[in-house]
Amino acid sequence: MKISANNPQRKSWLSVAKNSDFPIQNIPFGVFLTKDDIITIGTRIGDSAIDLGALHQLGYFKDIPLTDDIFLQDTLNDFIADGRKTWRLVRNRIAELFDENNSELKNNEDHKTHVIFTMDEIEMQLPVDIGDYTDFYSSKEHATNVGIMFRGKDNALMPNWLHIPVGYHGRSSSIVVSGTPIRRPNGQTLPVGETQPVFGPSKRVDMELETAFITTAANKLGESIPVDEADEYIFGMVVFNDWSARDIQKWEYVPLGPFLGKSFASTISPWIVTMDALEPFRCESPKQEVSPLPYLQQKRSDNSYDIKLQAILETENGDKNLLSSSNFKYMYWTMAQQLAHHTSNGCNVRTGDMLGSGTLSGKTKDSYGSMLELTWAGKEPITLKDGSTRIFFNDGDNVILNGYCENEEVRIGFGECTGKIFPAK
Ligand code: CA
Repeated sequence: MKISANNPQRKSWLSVAKNSDFPIQNIPFGVFLTKDDIITIGTRIGDSAIDLGALHQLGYFKDIPLTDDIFLQDTLNDFIADGRKTWRLVRNRIAELFDENNSELKNNEDHKTHVIFTMDEIEMQLPVDIGDYTDFYSSKEHATNVGIMFRGKDNALMPNWLHIPVGYHGRSSSIVVSGTPIRRPNGQTLPVGETQPVFGPSKRVDMELETAFITTAANKLGESIPVDEADEYIFGMVVFNDWSARDIQKWEYVPLGPFLGKSFASTISPWIVTMDALEPFRCESPKQEVSPLPYLQQKRSDNSYDIKLQAILETENGDKNLLSSSNFKYMYWTMAQQLAHHTSNGCNVRTGDMLGSGTLSGKTKDSYGSMLELTWAGKEPITLKDGSTRIFFNDGDNVILNGYCENEEVRIGFGECTGKIFPAK
């Protein structure tokens, strides 16, 4: 089925600023609370939030086989479970309805008051009930940087890294939507030079500049997904800040890996941008220097996406300091390889599962995706516009991640993924 929603020539009768992340070609999906305290599934064009529950009740999706309450839900899980054909039909229909040449809704003032809200009239919610969250470690630059810091240059990459998309099972209960305050975690750490651990507020709260993808039910327990079919099961992507407490992490992580240093919070951007919307921004993934085993070999080579990513630190005086400019396309292992690997042992992936890319660092220092790398484990503090310095984040710091794709015709963005750090309890 054609993705007519991606037509770059299309214009909407809703106003869209030139540099908006949300032109009519985007049509992401999210969940929001209206000013009347009604929760609904919606989309966004420009700065207008569109209530898909109301649109469906008014009959605008009558030609698409959908259950009556599919959009009157507090999560996208049921819609995601309907599969790619339905996602595509709905996106195509929304594009048609909001096309400047379509008057069905454009000229119906009564319907418009029930369907369209300004962004300040709504409150974005966590869009998915995330059952399981897995985090990968798939940027070679990031893994190399961390490896050099902990093990030295000669053993930077572990022997498995070029053969396996390394990952671990994360915690889904503490994944929050953009704007949710981040409480500095307490935890057990071993202060440098000491032999006895202490318990208290983490002194090394860090970000991880990542993206994540959301799946639909992919495989039954005991079955696996072939790598060349894996894309079929990916609904869309978000920008993702996988907060980390490096001092807690450092003391606890041997031998079972990340635990409380990672599970206190992870923030996602509120709108899930569909893989269909990102299709025009496919690009080659990095050449894999060691040929992966057959179950990870992909036929097509344009398995990545050119998504520009930024991390910004907003201090309490309102200054915005650019910390990092990275790109999703630096990721060594592709999302399809991650998903194929994840299910290769028969582990079942369900609708609403979320898989994180791992910190996305580029080759140059201005593209590193964590403070750990940007300050080289605290040895090279960053000086901010207000003259203060940071090794890791202070209370009151607001960390803003964003992501967008752009070509000559269209810009497709994710909006912001923000979290402000509050003092430990
Ligand atoms: Ca991570």
